[in-house]
Formats: sequence, structure tokens, C-alpha cells
Amino acid sequence: MTRKTTEPKEGAADDTDSVQLANAAVALAGSAPWLAGQREQLTQAWRGTRFPHALLLRGPAGVAKTALAEWVARLVLCDERAVAPCGQCASCQLMAVGNHPDLLRVGLEEDARQVKIESVRALASSLGMRSYRQGHKVAIVAPADRMSTGAANALLKTLEEPASETLLVLVADQVERLPATIASRCQQLRIARPAPEMALAWLNARERRTDWPACLELAYGAPLRAMAIAAGGGAALTREMSDLLDALSGAGRDLVAESERWTKSGAAERVRWIEFWAAKRLREAGSSSATQPLHAVGIRRHVHALFAVHDRARDATSWLQRGSVNAQLLVEGLLLDLVRAVRSRPTGGRTA
Ligand SMILES: [Zn+2]
Repeated sequence: MTRKTTEPKEGAADDTDSVQLANAAVALAGSAPWLAGQREQLTQAWRGTRFPHALLLRGPAGVAKTALAEWVARLVLCDERAVAPCGQCASCQLMAVGNHPDLLRVGLEEDARQVKIESVRALASSLGMRSYRQGHKVAIVAPADRMSTGAANALLKTLEEPASETLLVLVADQVERLPATIASRCQQLRIARPAPEMALAWLNARERRTDWPACLELAYGAPLRAMAIAAGGGAALTREMSDLLDALSGAGRDLVAESERWTKSGAAERVRWIEFWAAKRLREAGSSSATQPLHAVGIRRHVHALFAVHDRARDATSWLQRGSVNAQLLVEGLLLDLVRAVRSRPTGGRTA
């Protein structure tokens, strides 16, 4: 996509891709069983009289927080409060075609690492104006935990003096990166990973696959992450990559030949797999350092190396998507980091 997706837009139709994504997100959030409690709580609050002016949807990546944010927007902007989101009224239809003038979104601009102050300022001034359809105005900020300091300050002003009939929905994986002054002014809704049985049943209902358990494990129980992993090759890829990790921790492998092979086909899927793997290992290392202080120094070194792998893999993913980059050099760099990470592993841990 070449379009900037983050400037607040009013009255302009979104492109087809993002409209379809938003509709799919709403359908997902409206039916995902692990969001049932949040849907119920929000619906009751909306039909009652006490609805917050700011919501913070927090929880791990891949549990459909952003999808729930889209669903909340439909709940609040629907013309039929008693049955919202009805999907039928004029407001719901405007949202279904990506053209509701009172729904704003701010996020990462293409290639940007932070949500910019200009985006938040534009959002704040739009929220200060009257609703086009005599109802609420809704603004979604996702990922809110990636706001620059200036952007966070600009948002704080809006939170301190909210205009009437406005709703801000913030979405954050890493709520600790959000200033406490912002988090404390929002009603917080925590979204947890579903139990594995629930996640597997839901995934199988969408698509029958024998490798869902493996994908879900790599995704650390987050269903949307499991879907991303499955889309990138699933269990077969996991087998291939586990062999690679074993080889790298031992005698090694010809990294130049390996990166040549990746560059010919499947580099993006493999890089993404490494990103998920590093994220999973970081969690495991975090929990073991809490219970095994004797290994803390070794674990710290390992964690440092894993962070390097994770960040490089995430950057590589966005570079590869953009093309026009020396993919082989990129992959070689990532593999070197990966070698450091697997060899810094304190003894006794698992490779994959
Ligand atoms: Zn409606």
C-alpha cells in the first residue's frame, strides 16, 4: 500500500483494502469468543448512561485489540443504540464502506517507528469540532504505545479536556510504554489470551489445519499471531527453522549460502518466523530469570542478543515489504545476530 493510512480523514472514502480489513476486523471482534466479556461490558455501558470518554484496550499482541477498537466505533456510532452495532442503519452502512465522517484513526505512518505529533494534533482538532451526524465522534489511536513524546503530550491535553460526545480508543500491547498520566485517564479493558482449547476451536472453525497447535504455541497463545504464522508456512516452516537453529548453535552453517537460498524464495516468511520465535524466547527468558536468579547474568546476555534478533527481524520485515533493498545482506545480518543469540543461550534451555 502506498497510501498514508494515519492522517485523520473526514468525508474521504478509504481505499478498498483498508475498508475490507476494517470490516473483517469488526466481524472478528463481534464473534471472537474470548472477547465476549468485553463486548457485553461495553454494550451494557453504552445502553446505560455511563460511557467513558476514553478507553484503553490493553493486552498482548495478536488477541484482536485493534479489531475490538473498530467494533467499539461501530457500537458508538450506530444510530440504533438499543441494538448497536446493528449493521443496517445509515451510520453502520457508512462505516461498512469506510466513509463515516465521525470516525478517525491515527497510527503509524508508512515506515514510521512512532506515531507523530502532527497526526495527534490533527486528531485533537477534529475531535473538537461538531459531529457531522449529530452523534458521537470516535478516534482510534493504535498503536498508542508507539506515540512520540510530543504526540503523547498532545493527546494528554485532549484527555484532560475532552469535548462532549467524543470517544478516544487507545490500543496498546506494551502499556508500560504509555505515560501513566494517559493510562490513568482511560477506562482500561484488559484482553487476555484465550485458553488454548478455545483458541484452537476458533482457529479450526475458520480453517481446518493440523498444525494449529504448533502455530499457536509459537504465537504464545495469541490467535491472530497464530494465523500470521500459519500464513507464513506453519509447521513445515517451524521444522525447517528448528533444524537451522540447531545447526547454528552447533557446528554452524554457511550463512552466505543460507541467505542466498532465502533470498531466492521465502525470505519474508522466514524472517517473520524468527521475529515470532525471538518474541517467544524473550518471554520465556523473562519468566526464567524471575525464578532462577543464579542464571541471571547469563540470561541477561541472552536476552540482549534476543532483543537484537527481534528488532532486526522486525526491521527486515518492513524493508523486505518495501523491496528496493539488498535482501541478501539484510538476511546475512539477521543470521549473524541469530548465531549470537543461540550461542548465548544459558545451558539447559530449548532451542526452538
Ligand atoms: Zn447501526
